[in-house]
Amino acid sequence: MDNYKDQFISHMLDELQAPLKTILKNSNALIKNSNTSSNKKQLKLIYHSAINLENIIKDVSDISNLNNNKISIDLSKVNLRDLLSQNFEIFRYKAREKSLRYSITFGKDLPKFIQTDPNRLSQVISNLLSNAIKFTDINGSIKFETVFDRSKSILKVFVDDDGIGIPESKKKYIFKPFKRDTTKQNIEDTRTGLGLLISLSIIELLDGKISFESTENKGSTFSFEIPVKTYDE
Ligand code: ADP
Repeated sequence: MDNYKDQFISHMLDELQAPLKTILKNSNALIKNSNTSSNKKQLKLIYHSAINLENIIKDVSDISNLNNNKISIDLSKVNLRDLLSQNFEIFRYKAREKSLRYSITFGKDLPKFIQTDPNRLSQVISNLLSNAIKFTDINGSIKFETVFDRSKSILKVFVDDDGIGIPESKKKYIFKPFKRDTTKQNIEDTRTGLGLLISLSIIELLDGKISFESTENKGSTFSFEIPVKTYDE
């Protein structure tokens, strides 16, 4: 039965892609050609809603694959500093848009190469950096830090922000599906409320742990640690 259900979900997600791509492509074209501001606003609403839907489809597909153990971890030899820098750079523009102080610190003992799944690790780091930026107000500060515990061969990653923080009552729902913050929505809001659940699943697949500390109106630190194999170069 579960097998049929999984096949149905996977088929349905594929079927949703084509009409969605058409909506995205055409609404984007109409935005460019439209000359009245009220039309433009409505078209942007359609476009951003379609992007939102696309993100939900991607996340549901990830969740469904994770639940069915269909996501395998693909380990390879990875240049750690390059992977961290690349993820950091992807969000520099967004951080600048909000005039955030945005910094990266590499622990002094960081190995040059580790064995990990670069795509999955990047997915988790992107989720944490994008959340930190999303939930931090203009002129705030984001710090991305990595530490390596050589004796245990554990990589620790921290994303610290001084943003809106998480109220006590919400903390137990943070890694649950669809428990997103709905208090600050706008048309560019492309959140699905699934990112942390996916991150948790990936970190568990990598035999690690993910956690957070947060104080409302002061900020949050999300962190994870994973055991990694290192290379002599
Ligand atoms: P999304 O960001 O798509 O809503 P996530 O699973 O990544 O989904 O996050 C779930 C919820 O956790 C968010 O909606 C928000 O309420 C809270 N959250 C996550 N990161 C932060 C952060 N850095 N600061 C404050 N709240 C956060």
